[in-house]
Amino acid sequence: MLELLFLLLPVAMGYGWFMGRNSVKQRDHSAKQDLSIKYSTGINYLLSNQQDKAIEYLLETLTVEDDTVEAHFAMANLFRKRGELDRALKVHEHLVRQKHLPTKAKQQAAFELGKDFLTAGLYDRAESMFHTLMKSKVFAQRSLTYLLQIYQSTKDWQHGIELKKAIVKSKDKKLLHTLANFYCELATIALEKDQFIEVLELLESALRCDPNSCRANWLMAEIYENHQQYNEACQCYKDIYTQDNEFFPDVIDKMANCYHQLDADDEFYCFIKKVYDETGGSSALIKYLSLIEHKHGHVKAQEFMLSALKRRPTIQGFKHFIKMQMNQPEQDHENLAMIKELVSAYLNIKQRYNCRNCGFNSSTHYWSCPSCHDWETLKPVRGLEGE
Ligand SMILES: [Zn+2]
Repeated sequence: MLELLFLLLPVAMGYGWFMGRNSVKQRDHSAKQDLSIKYSTGINYLLSNQQDKAIEYLLETLTVEDDTVEAHFAMANLFRKRGELDRALKVHEHLVRQKHLPTKAKQQAAFELGKDFLTAGLYDRAESMFHTLMKSKVFAQRSLTYLLQIYQSTKDWQHGIELKKAIVKSKDKKLLHTLANFYCELATIALEKDQFIEVLELLESALRCDPNSCRANWLMAEIYENHQQYNEACQCYKDIYTQDNEFFPDVIDKMANCYHQLDADDEFYCFIKKVYDETGGSSALIKYLSLIEHKHGHVKAQEFMLSALKRRPTIQGFKHFIKMQMNQPEQDHENLAMIKELVSAYLNIKQRYNCRNCGFNSSTHYWSCPSCHDWETLKPVRGLEGE
């Protein structure tokens, strides 16, 4: 009930002001009477606990003036915060209908109404509200963000891409990153239909929006690999490492295969050594160990593994160490196999991916976090139980 006083406060002030003026003429007298009736009727509704009637009555009878518009916004926001969306909608719709308000207040009313519709899941109405604000200096960028949010929820990638001109003009990195992922979504659909040229064009558009899009390079590498263009695929995998090395563990095997196809295993192992030196990741370590074993024998590889595990212990590294032990003829294979199985079972119940934005954990990889909906934030877990 208290929030309705936001509306009544300016009325009360006006009433007091009228009462304080003894020298008013006849025309002021009738206005004073009118205002006092509205004020007391509103109070009566409130006192009888009929909030909805009070809101409707006050919105219908009291005019929104420049000095009371902020009170209306504050009250509507309070309603929205308390989850009373229908009440917030009523106030914002009322404000949108006020033709005499200054442009900024009118735009703010449309923007807030768009947010109400979005919260209520009325995407069509929210979309048209945000579209009306595309030329607003104050609200255009925020409206773009909400429009992309709507198109992401409805998987309407094409409509999102139609906003490209405005997004590029905004130069907002987060919006450009989201747009690049919209292109990647379309590229994934085209990839399933084997539309090679279309996929490449969509991915190039994605990289023009966001040159650091790991996802675009990932898909690009997949296309090249499928078409046996291994040099190009290797370059894409290298780009992924440069762009965001936290994604790299998931492409190591694919990259190893491409170098192998090119008969360039040595080149791959030089690259992996650099990756291990720079990141210390367990996937890079395991790949690098194959090189040591191949060049310097099993004993050297085992020594390297032990010192690496002492420096930076990981369960994944420990599992690989057991596997190395199992390859030795003199070892107790039965017990080692049991330990390896237990470690594998332990790793299987652990979530492999973690969202760097909201902390959401998942065993499956998603390009858009199912919890916070940010793009490319789900990456392999780091630390003892991860990389
Ligand atoms: Zn998240």
